Amino acid sequence: MSEVLVLVDHVDGAVRKPTFELLAIAKKLGTPAAVFIGGAGEAADAAAAVKKYGAEKVYVVDDAEIKGYLVAPKSEALAQLVEKTSPAAVLIVSSAEGKEVGARLAVKTGSGLITDAVDVAEDGTATQSVFAGNYTLTGKVTKGTPIITVKPNSASPEEGEGAGTVEEVAVTISDAAKTAQIVASQPRQASGRPELTEAAIVVSGGRGTGGDFAPVEKLADALGAAVGASRAAVDSGWIPHTFQVGQTGKTVSPQLYVANGISGAIQHRAGMQTSKTIVAVNKDEEAPIFELVDFGVVGDLHSVLPALTDAVEAR
Ligand code: FAD
Repeated sequence: MSEVLVLVDHVDGAVRKPTFELLAIAKKLGTPAAVFIGGAGEAADAAAAVKKYGAEKVYVVDDAEIKGYLVAPKSEALAQLVEKTSPAAVLIVSSAEGKEVGARLAVKTGSGLITDAVDVAEDGTATQSVFAGNYTLTGKVTKGTPIITVKPNSASPEEGEGAGTVEEVAVTISDAAKTAQIVASQPRQASGRPELTEAAIVVSGGRGTGGDFAPVEKLADALGAAVGASRAAVDSGWIPHTFQVGQTGKTVSPQLYVANGISGAIQHRAGMQTSKTIVAVNKDEEAPIFELVDFGVVGDLHSVLPALTDAVEAR
């Protein structure tokens, strides 16, 4: 079976969960092979991590110079690897960086690209959710090497040792790719909660919180979830924009999305409609969010959420 390359999404060698999800998809399509591009000394832990999730091969591009630049050198390195290995497909996490790497790779290799897939079938057919989730589109790359970026939480990581054979790869990075240098990078302040776009559970609050996010945050912590928000809550200054879900915020696709005091405007739906299970708490039984939900609770979030949190904590 041909290899399916999975570009490892990592921070200084610490592999992020969506990579393990992509390895599960890669197993369906062929032989999973991880591609680690990072700075010197970061590869060992990453290689061990992806091996646990079935990577048969780990290609390592260990180059401090690549790390010092934004995406262009990464896509150049990946393009050289694609040429060398002729994989059945390349899978990349659908982050802002992942989509840019994918787009550049597609141009360099003369291949088709599908972005923001929420599922990839065994024959490489990718499913996308488009127009704010109102259409489901299935498509297939017909030219070159299929390059597919996949949204986090689109598959479940599958533990299972692969051979994890490490192969160092030497690449040549052109001057043209070294156009945007990283001047400084600062880690986000740790909140102890999962990253919003990667979380399996998201608990969000809207204008209905009245500015009191404590019940939302307490439920999120009881569930090990990330906290999200509607734009109304962000615009009111109750929570920073990094928490905003929707058309002009982040797109999330968790296993469970709990919307609290959120009416369900189309722009909010655009960012959460592909969540697997949607629950809403709203005191207005006519709220549009209820058209979308799997489970709805009509009630005041300030009494429903503490009761729910107690019930979760009691389990
Ligand atoms: P509201 O619509 O005011 O709804 C509040 C809800 O809370 C109501 O349904 C009410 O019944 C309920 N409620 C009130 N009190 C309680 C209580 N005590 N307990 C339970 N329920 C209660 N919005 C986004 O969210 N994300 C975006 O990215 C985004 N991008 C936009 C881009 C553009 C170009 C535009 C024009 C708009 C955008 N919006 C976005 C705004 C969007 O149209 C809505 O205005 C916004 O989503 C409303 O937020 P909300 O649901 O919190 O507030």
